[in-house]
Amino acid sequence: MRFGDERESSNFEDATGRSGMGFGGGGGNPLGCLIPLVASRFGIGGVIVLVIGYFLLSSLGGLGGGGGGGNVGPSTQQNAPAGKSTLDPNTKRFMLQVLASTEDVWSQQLGGRYTPTTLVAYSRAYQSGCGAAQSAMGPFYCPTDKKIYLDTEFSDELSRRFQAPGDFAQAYVIAHEVGHHVQDLQGGLDEAHNAQAQASESEGNAIQVKVELQADCYAGVWAANAKDPQGQPVMEQGDLEEGVRAAEAIGDDTLQKESQGVVVPDSFTHGTSAQRMEALQRGYRSGDPNVCKF
Ligand SMILES: [Zn+2]
Repeated sequence: MRFGDERESSNFEDATGRSGMGFGGGGGNPLGCLIPLVASRFGIGGVIVLVIGYFLLSSLGGLGGGGGGGNVGPSTQQNAPAGKSTLDPNTKRFMLQVLASTEDVWSQQLGGRYTPTTLVAYSRAYQSGCGAAQSAMGPFYCPTDKKIYLDTEFSDELSRRFQAPGDFAQAYVIAHEVGHHVQDLQGGLDEAHNAQAQASESEGNAIQVKVELQADCYAGVWAANAKDPQGQPVMEQGDLEEGVRAAEAIGDDTLQKESQGVVVPDSFTHGTSAQRMEALQRGYRSGDPNVCKF
């Protein structure tokens, strides 16, 4: 992708220097001052559904007593380098330019009826409006606080695990989550949740696949319409193929084959690699969100 001096979005929270504790990990990390803050939110209890594609059921119980222990004292709190970002400046700039571009494109596509989402970058673990966020979950969109949570190690992980390096692959991840925000604004997420409430597990998964493929299609719509300040497309030769390779690498069948050795279609929640590639390409070729309807 060709990004130069494009606008950077201000709808951003850098939590990379404040996250990582309270979930049993982070040994040696002196950021324990955040535990009380995080723990105080655990009174809600119960089970919260996250739109992370897997509809991961995340119980909030049992997290309150997280690590750190005796290290958490007033002096530690004062000395802890809380808030010190661990985010690479180039990564941050690229993410915020992509985010700003999604704001421009969706404002235009939705005729000004677009309210931006906020991107929260965190490291390892953080508390989202939908419960505990952990890097193992991958990036996700939380409809409760209307924010995207992105573990900054995810793009490294993407290139390491899936051989899908490159900037469009990373932009696609953000654009996919913004796609969920668009669904949310249009009532599509609520509709899907309601339909799932009355569906069997496999029917519920099928609904989830549709939601995910639509978000992929929306990512393609964004890419097709992303322009630089001079009105030139930011997508370059080979970019879409790069996104398609990422889509292929993170299809449910591919992931399941890697992890279980077998494919169980009923449990698919994101779609197969072929479906994800098709959805991304469909959105990209047309540039019109109407082709993403399901
Ligand atoms: Zn998704």
